[in-house]
Amino acid sequence: MRLLSPGSGPRVDLGVVLLEADARLGGRTFTVSGEGENTKKLSFDIGGQWIGKKQTRIYELVKQLDIKTIPQFHQGKKVFQSNTSVSTYSGTIPKINIFKILDFELNLRYYMDSLAAKINSLRGWSSKKSGLDSKSVESILYDKTYSDCGGLLDVFVRAVWGTEPKHLGLLFSLFYIHSAGGVYPLAETEGGAQEAKLEGGTQQISQKCAEKFISKGGNIKLNQLVVKITKEKDGTYLLMCRDPTNSDAPFTLYRSKYVILAIPPTQYKSIQFEPCLPLEKQLLAEKAFMGSYLKMILLFKKPFWREKGYSGEITCALDESSFPEFPITMGFDSSQENAKSWGLVVFLAGTSGLYWTQKSTPERHAAVLKHLRHLFKDCEVDEPIEIIEKNWNVHPFTKGCPVNCIPTGAMKLFECAAAPVGNIHFASTETAKEWHGYMSGAVEAGERTAFEVLHKIDSKFPLPVQHQPTQNHSLVSLQNILILIILAIALLAWWFLN
Ligand SMILES: Cc1cc2nc3c(=O)[nH]c(=O)nc-3n(C[C@H](O)[C@H](O)[C@H](O)COP(=O)(O)OP(=O)(O)OC[C@H]3O[C@@H](n4cnc5c(N)ncnc54)[C@H](O)[C@@H]3O)c2cc1C
Repeated sequence: MRLLSPGSGPRVDLGVVLLEADARLGGRTFTVSGEGENTKKLSFDIGGQWIGKKQTRIYELVKQLDIKTIPQFHQGKKVFQSNTSVSTYSGTIPKINIFKILDFELNLRYYMDSLAAKINSLRGWSSKKSGLDSKSVESILYDKTYSDCGGLLDVFVRAVWGTEPKHLGLLFSLFYIHSAGGVYPLAETEGGAQEAKLEGGTQQISQKCAEKFISKGGNIKLNQLVVKITKEKDGTYLLMCRDPTNSDAPFTLYRSKYVILAIPPTQYKSIQFEPCLPLEKQLLAEKAFMGSYLKMILLFKKPFWREKGYSGEITCALDESSFPEFPITMGFDSSQENAKSWGLVVFLAGTSGLYWTQKSTPERHAAVLKHLRHLFKDCEVDEPIEIIEKNWNVHPFTKGCPVNCIPTGAMKLFECAAAPVGNIHFASTETAKEWHGYMSGAVEAGERTAFEVLHKIDSKFPLPVQHQPTQNHSLVSLQNILILIILAIALLAWWFLN
């Protein structure tokens, strides 16, 4: 890539250049330190945080970069709030009405897992025949179940995508579940996506990769928001960048033969393309929407939840109307034992995230604390010593989080997400086939696009192999068998009594 200074100034050959809009690397991973005497030496992830062993690409990369993993603390009782009550449970499924659990397990979870297991390729599935693309995730509550399933579908969708079931396309959700190997791998801590944290935080993945990139001659330019990409007559691309921190700064121009666009489709709208992107890509950018996440880490003097045998895991399956009173969607222990730092991390997701974005920081903090006191009634929940918060809904280069969601009827457009346009190649986790939406998906997309470009430069580099997600769908789990036995006994008892 060449840097072309404005006017007739010098031209500099830069080799491979990374243009980043933000003043830091890391994007949706963001590690900060606290402001207190003790916490300023510690690292807190206010973006992507956990990895799981099933996410092989990110696990491998973390190992290569010599970053230590720390198992997520999950020992003890978990807290579950439904619209009417707060209860505790252990294992995966909260203690709610047995028929609602059976309804969820057999009619919903099993249905989604078995359909997701069949999605080997999107082609054909988004056609009218399957009908799945014209349904929202919420529609299966009406079509397949007999109850509201205790709100478990709502909280699952909010936690994974940061949106509500009525907004999320069913086929997209099935593709996403397929990419992770099932519903449970997405939802669980042990053996799932929330298995381990990284010592020092996740942003160092990008920072350490950047060090290697620079040592091999790569260049990184921060505060370079790409605002226009023009294809020139000679086939090269002219990238126009603006410094978002300085409105008086002149535009910077870069000329390049190949471009890898590693941004979510919703961000394409911030770039003017000449010629325009193909209509499918433009429509994808219009139709896709970011989920809504507010992440808050509350630090306490003592781990009041651990002292009473709680794991710190919180799941709130509530109606949308409850969010003004109960903002938390889910939560986890975020303590750093070695440093004697005790914390809970909570997420305000979906409608709750949107609602609480409109409120002031003190109002949000007070509401979250009040909600925690409601959830841990038998604990003494003191004022936190510090609260670290990130509202991703107002982040200028992401505009929401954790991932682009696809509504009903748009999966045909989504099929083309990873397809190159000329020498513009498309990365970001939104183009991944395995662990789509996660850091592991971002690594897959980066590798794929790097090989696509290398293959064009020199055909001795192989084109990337299209990996198929591992089939971990636990259709016949011990839990399912037990549930089937209970159901059979219940039916027999009913038959005898009648
Ligand atoms: C609160 C939160 C919690 C999450 N939890 C997890 C988790 O526990 N585990 C997990 O695996 N994943 C998690 N994720 C998702 C994970 O962080 C993302 O999947 C991953 O970081 C995406 O990486 P990416 O490179 O595809 O995109 P990004 O990280 O979004 O990188 C895109 C980059 O492009 C830049 N950019 C955008 N537009 C332009 C432009 N026009 N010009 C120049 N630069 C531009 C952005 O500033 C950004 O740095 C979470 C995300 C959030 C926000």
